[in-house]
Amino acid sequence: MNIHEYQAKDIFRRFGIPVPPGDVATTPDEAERIARAYGTGVVVKAQVHAGGRGKAGGVKLARTPADARAAAQQIIGMQIKGLTVPKVLVTPAADIASEAYAGIIVDRASKRAVYMVSPAGGIDIEEVAATMPDKIMRLPVDPRYGLLPFEASRLGFFLYMDNAKLAREAAKIMRQLWQAFTASGGSLAEINPLVVTTGGDLLALDAKMVIDDNELDRHPDIAALRDETAEDPSEVAARRANLTFIKLDGNVGCVVNGAGLAMATMDLVKYYGGEPANFLDIGGSSNPEKVVNALRIITRDPNVKAILFNIFGGITRTDDVANGIVAATRDTPLTIPMVIRLTGTNEEIAVQILQQHGFSAMTDMDDAVQKAVRLATGGKAA
Ligand code: GDP
Ligand code: MN
Repeated sequence: MNIHEYQAKDIFRRFGIPVPPGDVATTPDEAERIARAYGTGVVVKAQVHAGGRGKAGGVKLARTPADARAAAQQIIGMQIKGLTVPKVLVTPAADIASEAYAGIIVDRASKRAVYMVSPAGGIDIEEVAATMPDKIMRLPVDPRYGLLPFEASRLGFFLYMDNAKLAREAAKIMRQLWQAFTASGGSLAEINPLVVTTGGDLLALDAKMVIDDNELDRHPDIAALRDETAEDPSEVAARRANLTFIKLDGNVGCVVNGAGLAMATMDLVKYYGGEPANFLDIGGSSNPEKVVNALRIITRDPNVKAILFNIFGGITRTDDVANGIVAATRDTPLTIPMVIRLTGTNEEIAVQILQQHGFSAMTDMDDAVQKAVRLATGGKAA
């Protein structure tokens, strides 16, 4: 789950990381009032779940309260990477002497949380990695010990090699960021930029955190920060319907039971030249209602050109799935082709139900996937 910058800053602050103060505004009036109360120049920052806000015009310096108002006027309601900006963070502007990067990500290759720091901050870390890889230090952290003090020092000195005072202060921030990351169930925590002000102080000017969805039950306070307006509507609907759903960019809508079979189905769609429109696991239980919800969510995506059901009936009864398909299409008939493959528990009954309602079912997975890809691409693939 993504959280907003101001929310991540609240968490960082609790762990002692130096973060500038700030208040959130949803109207230009409010932004002006907040800027006046600070009595300094401010930065008005789009609060939206997207990176690169600066480049997109979503971060603006404002010298006066009137400027802050104008900036908020421009930023609230603007689109950044397809998302509408609902609110802004108004925060006193810092005078920046230098910008660095510090972040923690979970890395599959090393199976660890990996610390990454770079004295070249303010820009995308991917860009630094591509153009000046020697400016990044990567440090996989052993989960048995957490970030050890000497490791924090190495990170701090990599950032500020020729300034021992800053290096030590940075080392402290590295430990605090590690604490914030682990205590919140984070899958990512990032400060970009971590700046040295012209006054010589370290300050986290930007904050980003992603929380592992599987940690949210342990952190109800963080779970409450979920902003459904910032999420893909189909993913919100799926979560409410208890479906595991990830929206993708392809045109073959997939309805599958079981995460493993769903992955295998997506692989096969790609193998035959198609692109899946989603990952969807309707789960192992039998429940026609889930099928109804799944179809409703998938058909809402205008990219979807064909629907592929791939059901292996174990605990899932295929006749329940068939009933779900019939129920879902009774009131709103499909306008796109659908391929149904099912096999396993009660498959004879399922086939009968489907045939009575004018559907046909296949039993071979390869055949079904090829057919769905062909229908989705108009015969151009497979
Ligand atoms: P992002 O583009 O979404 O990562 O947003 P950031 O919060 O990182 O802001 C982008 C850039 O705006 C930073 O790298 C800074 O160069 C600049 N910026 C942000 N806050 C301040 C500030 O308080 N003072 C100054 N001078 N620049 C700022
Ligand atoms: Mn940033």
